[in-house]
Amino acid sequence: MRCSAADDPVAYYLETVGCDRVTAEAVAAAAAAPAAAERDVATPPAAEQVAAASPAGMDIEAQWDALALQVAGCTACDLAAGRTRTVFGSGDRAADLLLIGEAPGHDEDQQGEPFVGRAGRLLNQMLAAIGLTRQQVLVINVIKCRPPRNRDPKPQEIAACRHFIDAQIAMVRPKVIGLLGRVASCAMLERDAPLSVLRHHWHEVRGIPAYVTYHPAFLLRSPQQKVEGWRDMLQIKARLAAAGGG
Ligand code: SF4
Repeated sequence: MRCSAADDPVAYYLETVGCDRVTAEAVAAAAAAPAAAERDVATPPAAEQVAAASPAGMDIEAQWDALALQVAGCTACDLAAGRTRTVFGSGDRAADLLLIGEAPGHDEDQQGEPFVGRAGRLLNQMLAAIGLTRQQVLVINVIKCRPPRNRDPKPQEIAACRHFIDAQIAMVRPKVIGLLGRVASCAMLERDAPLSVLRHHWHEVRGIPAYVTYHPAFLLRSPQQKVEGWRDMLQIKARLAAAGGG
């Protein structure tokens, strides 16, 4: 029987891998495992460090809009020439959870919104499975303009765009950051490592706890990994709860 998002968001997210059996197994495993993932827990957010990066004398809404305007007019790397729209981010500017993805694809470039289309719908399911909606989180990318033919962003493009994402983090000051996929994780953690090495551990981005999980586009290609993705989301949920967010 097909699961419904309203009846059971967890089973709905996991339905392609057999929701009844896998949900039960994953719940049991996740409940038994959170301590293992706490070994590399980062220190609490360094609020003063993050706050120091925020422009003085402007409220958060004005800062955000001013930065979005800067991004819209940015020509700091070659990606500016091929974009239709910049993709600044969407969601709650005061969110406790910030999700960071890789770069806009075709649909995002056309609409100016991150994570639309099939990957976006799966991201919505991933969030619903931990009791959140897209409106309750903030979603951004490390690169604000679409790379041609959806290739990976080049290091110089990531470097050129980095100050924008650092400013966004400083303004939002989330309690937890979720890093979606290898490109975003390596860019934000300034490491070159496979996802298998980066997952299962807490990291820090600008003093904020950050957890690595799969990109929804990967999970669309490899639905058998959805259970692993859900375990990651449970770690994020637990950390959010411990920080008084969610
Ligand atoms: S990708 Fe970033 S740095 Fe490059 S043009 Fe777009 S906004 Fe500017």
